Amino acid sequence: MKEPNLRQHLLSPYELYSFLLSHFGAQHWWPAETPFEVIVGAVLTQQVAWKNVEKAIENLKNANVLDSSKISNLPIEKLEVYIKPTGFYRQKARRLKSICSYICSEYNGSLKDLFNKEISSLRAKLLSLNGIAPESADSIILYAAEKPSFVIDAYTRRICERLQLTNELDYESLKKFFENNLPENVGIYKEFHAIIVELGKNYCKTKPVCKNCPLNKKCKSYTQDK
Ligand code: SF4
Repeated sequence: MKEPNLRQHLLSPYELYSFLLSHFGAQHWWPAETPFEVIVGAVLTQQVAWKNVEKAIENLKNANVLDSSKISNLPIEKLEVYIKPTGFYRQKARRLKSICSYICSEYNGSLKDLFNKEISSLRAKLLSLNGIAPESADSIILYAAEKPSFVIDAYTRRICERLQLTNELDYESLKKFFENNLPENVGIYKEFHAIIVELGKNYCKTKPVCKNCPLNKKCKSYTQDK
């Protein structure tokens, strides 16, 4: 007799979304006042805790330079000082300059015009800029442009692996997996990403806290001693 496919008995992405949403409630991400602030946060958040990004954004606000034209004209050494709390600040300063110069030279600083681009060409353009990784590009498209592009981060990958949602764990396969199994809806994509982060921060950490995890009855990686 053919072995049953265990994955058939596990959560679908939409079931996971509904379950986590009812547990954690809506998170109302992204924590930013303007679409440009989302862009800056998406570039700065790589490999660092969000509280460090907040410090850097506060520095930029206090210096009155949280603006694409001001950042592209700012001497890079000054920009590095403002964003130093986020680590890898030299690399991140170059990335910020690159995206700000693009917005200014191609769109005269207008995010509205930039975000009029169709998703695939906007994503391809963002990915072609200096050091803009898929996670940053998708965060910008989803949270700043308000267009449906699912964001994959380290928590998403870890949780998919532990829940055995799918075998394909590279960025583009995971993105397709979620997009193919969810309604194409900006609100759902935003909340799902945010509640995955909640699960990852509170329970599914590097060393998981399975005992208290809301998913432990549904998770193949749960063990009593964790
Ligand atoms: S039960 Fe453990 S491994 Fe599974 S999702 Fe929860 S914390 Fe992660």
